[in-house]
Amino acid sequence: MPVERINNNVYRIPVPLPNNPLRELNAYVIRGREQSLLIDTGFRLDACRRALREGLAELGIAREETVVLLTHMHADHAGLAPEFVAPGGGIMVSAADRVLLDKFSGDNRPAREGLNRMFIAAGFPPEELRTIARSNPALSLASVAPADYQQLHDGQVLTFGGHRLHCILVPGHTPGHMCLYLEEEGIMFTGDHVLFDISPNITAWEGVADSLGDYLNSLRRIRGYEVRLALPAHRKPGDMKARVDELVAHHDHRLAEVGRIIRESPGIDAYQVAGRMTWSIRSRDWSDFPLTQKWFAVGEALSHLDYLRVRGQIVRTRDDAGIDRYESA
Ligand SMILES: [Zn+2]
Repeated sequence: MPVERINNNVYRIPVPLPNNPLRELNAYVIRGREQSLLIDTGFRLDACRRALREGLAELGIAREETVVLLTHMHADHAGLAPEFVAPGGGIMVSAADRVLLDKFSGDNRPAREGLNRMFIAAGFPPEELRTIARSNPALSLASVAPADYQQLHDGQVLTFGGHRLHCILVPGHTPGHMCLYLEEEGIMFTGDHVLFDISPNITAWEGVADSLGDYLNSLRRIRGYEVRLALPAHRKPGDMKARVDELVAHHDHRLAEVGRIIRESPGIDAYQVAGRMTWSIRSRDWSDFPLTQKWFAVGEALSHLDYLRVRGQIVRTRDDAGIDRYESA
């Protein structure tokens, strides 16, 4: 797949994501005279590695001049970063996502145990969780090689290839997600914060009280920027303000649906809530859902439940079996 030229010194390298509904990662490059910036990388898979290597070669960029920046810690963005960053150079990422990268790197057992605890309390059947742990490629590929990092912070300005990039911290999709803004050109690299033909997954995180609330605040924040071209990490660009409005409306609708489910079935757990929510996936009913999709769906349900609970609309009680049950306040 050829490299696409977007703007003066700004390029897109399409990186295939095999067997993944996201299909491709858009890795963006800002080519500079001495140093070039690579934004996001791909899974630690040969297909990704090859596409990225060929794309950078086509642009004439050597590893020694490559600075790697991650919009966030997910493995389809971070997986190959240690292999492509210049030797001795640090991978640029926010402080919050750096913590998660460390947690999920290597054998990542503590991270998996934390996730397991969260999903068991959500009412996810343990035998289904065990099957997912064996088979879910998104989870087994989550491992990122340990690396050196360089901390990015909100408001920081970087310069590459004559462009000034403003770093904008937008927690939600991950606790430390970053967007990058080229103010002069009106270009926004949105990462997974704003995607145009799919909704970014918003899940609960250990240690984050209200990730959906954070996400909605971050959507409102990003809407304030004048953007001529919004470049997402997956799929095609689009009109950012219109899309932000759609995403806010989508979650409002979802929150109303979750509130109604709780009113109708007090004492329900998050797994059951997810089973009653409407999903775009083609499947006859919840029991037919592919397990991986169930896992993402329960994560989404949890983030919506947290949002309502933090605002006093529902209450959560842990039962004797260690499962959290919800009812209207
Ligand atoms: Zn992501």
